[in-house]
Amino acid sequence: MKEISVIVPVFNEEGNLADLYKRINDVLIKINKKSSVIFIDDGSNDNSKKIILELHKQNNNIEYILFTRNFGHQSAVFAGLIKSNSKCVVIIDADLQDPPELISEMYSEWLTNETPIIYAQRIKRKGESIFKKITAKFYYRFFSSIIDFNIPLDTGDFRLIDKKVVNEVLKMKDSNLFLRGQISWTGYRSKKIEYVRQKRKSGKTGYSLKKMIRFGLDGIISFSNYPLKLISLIGFYLTVISLLLILYALSSKFYYGNVIDGWTSLTIIISFFGGIQLIAIGIFGQYLARINDNVLSRSHYIISRQSK
Ligand code: UDP
Ligand code: MG
Repeated sequence: MKEISVIVPVFNEEGNLADLYKRINDVLIKINKKSSVIFIDDGSNDNSKKIILELHKQNNNIEYILFTRNFGHQSAVFAGLIKSNSKCVVIIDADLQDPPELISEMYSEWLTNETPIIYAQRIKRKGESIFKKITAKFYYRFFSSIIDFNIPLDTGDFRLIDKKVVNEVLKMKDSNLFLRGQISWTGYRSKKIEYVRQKRKSGKTGYSLKKMIRFGLDGIISFSNYPLKLISLIGFYLTVISLLLILYALSSKFYYGNVIDGWTSLTIIISFFGGIQLIAIGIFGQYLARINDNVLSRSHYIISRQSK
């Protein structure tokens, strides 16, 4: 078994790979134990694949997986976790926003204190849009308020995890991957290392707005029933309000009698059933979400080629 593997998901990163590998490898040379860098090409349509194969030929500590198409960042990391066979694993972005030199600090924390999870927390994010910074800040604060375990704020997937954490994550049958949540969910002891997130070295972000929204929803839906509870609650309050409306409609009719024919019954029916329907949808949703999660057990990705 190797000592350490570094997992790198790659989607159109041709301008970053050579430099990235060099900087990671410098850290691995210092660690001086059996190690590997695992590149997972997530269906790039630039020269990333070619560069990975070339780097693999020239360096014997490189492993690779090529996907048939773009399956998404989380699927790529997951494939890397499966391929890794090491005492500890580091997940890092390919665009050099996460400085590889931090791996050295993570590794010594793991080695000396046997800390199972060492995550890198961003104290500053360079070269990212205000929109991304604000939505990320808000999202993780909201997320952490609706789940029942602790998740570090301002933290992506850049982290070192022990083999035992990898094994627990690989056991999970989640169809929608949200690895930072799944790793925190294990509850293993963790430690943070603060860092300044750099500007992407070259190329542009592979996370379109659509992918970001999808990812955000995956996290919430996989780890919380809060939205469903919220609809049920709204339905409940609407029902209470509609009961008051019913009383009002009935008294208008029988007390004052100055009401157009049909208005009373219509008001009662619409308001009462509106409320009941929302409660019902909320309850159905609770079941549906659970069944859906279990039924969709499609594989996370398809591999077209990989190293031994
Ligand atoms: N990535 C991927 N598949 C995708 C999108 C991104 O494997 O569909 C990789 C990308 O190459 C990088 C990491 O995931 O190594 C983070 O992506 P990116 O830098 O585009 O996201 P951002 O830093 O803008 O959130
Ligand atoms: Mg990036």
